[in-house]
Amino acid sequence: MGNRVPLIAGNWKMNKTVKESVELVSVLKQKLTDVKNREILVCPSYISLYAVKEALKNTNIKVGAQNMYFEKSGAFTGEISPLMLKDINCDYVIIGHSERRQYFGETDESVNKKMKVAFESGIIPIVCVGETLQQREKNETFLIIEKQIKIGVAGLSGEQMKKLVIAYEPVWAIGTGKTATPQQAEEIHAFIRKLYSELYGKDAAEDIRILYGGSVKPDNISEIMKQPNIDGGLIGGAALKADDFIKLVNY
Ligand code: PEP
Repeated sequence: MGNRVPLIAGNWKMNKTVKESVELVSVLKQKLTDVKNREILVCPSYISLYAVKEALKNTNIKVGAQNMYFEKSGAFTGEISPLMLKDINCDYVIIGHSERRQYFGETDESVNKKMKVAFESGIIPIVCVGETLQQREKNETFLIIEKQIKIGVAGLSGEQMKKLVIAYEPVWAIGTGKTATPQQAEEIHAFIRKLYSELYGKDAAEDIRILYGGSVKPDNISEIMKQPNIDGGLIGGAALKADDFIKLVNY
């Protein structure tokens, strides 16, 4: 089995002002200094990224963006370039979150372009996949995940294959209070690792981390993390409260 350090990531979505963001990480950095064997990540909005990164300098908490564009510069009004993220030492970027797919037209093809450009720019992408309730009810879950993986994470080279992070987030479980059972999640995580192994070989598949996301809370994380193919959590709502996030990191 690969040497997979659990990654606990907070996706703050469109929440918190700069001041509120800095306040939250000021608490986190004090309370999470002694955490070992976990990688900790917070993903604030673009506007808070720089201030949060500064506030977390020389700490064990990493910082990620929630999206980026796939071009490095130019006439793309309103977009954020991977080079800008790299310039502020952003460590990770979430790509293809279901909310971006649902509301902002993100496709497997744009996910793939963004993933490649993130790596080229020295930022680790967290590529999100997951089925809707309708797709699950029509028994299309495996088909959808296979398409999202085969197109979304195609074309990786060398070390990239081992560094990629994938997040499985069933759309019906995001922000709804409905969590996939640990067994339901494990079934898909094992499937993703098998697909990845077909694409990039067994070693890379053993090394990549596959996070679960969808209503992860302090009281359900430990059961979820017991599953052999679940290597961390991508957490929305519960990452906005210091107490909850601290409990989640220390599951
Ligand atoms: C998410 O935003 O990725 C997410 C999983 O949200 P929540 O934890 O609120 O369901």
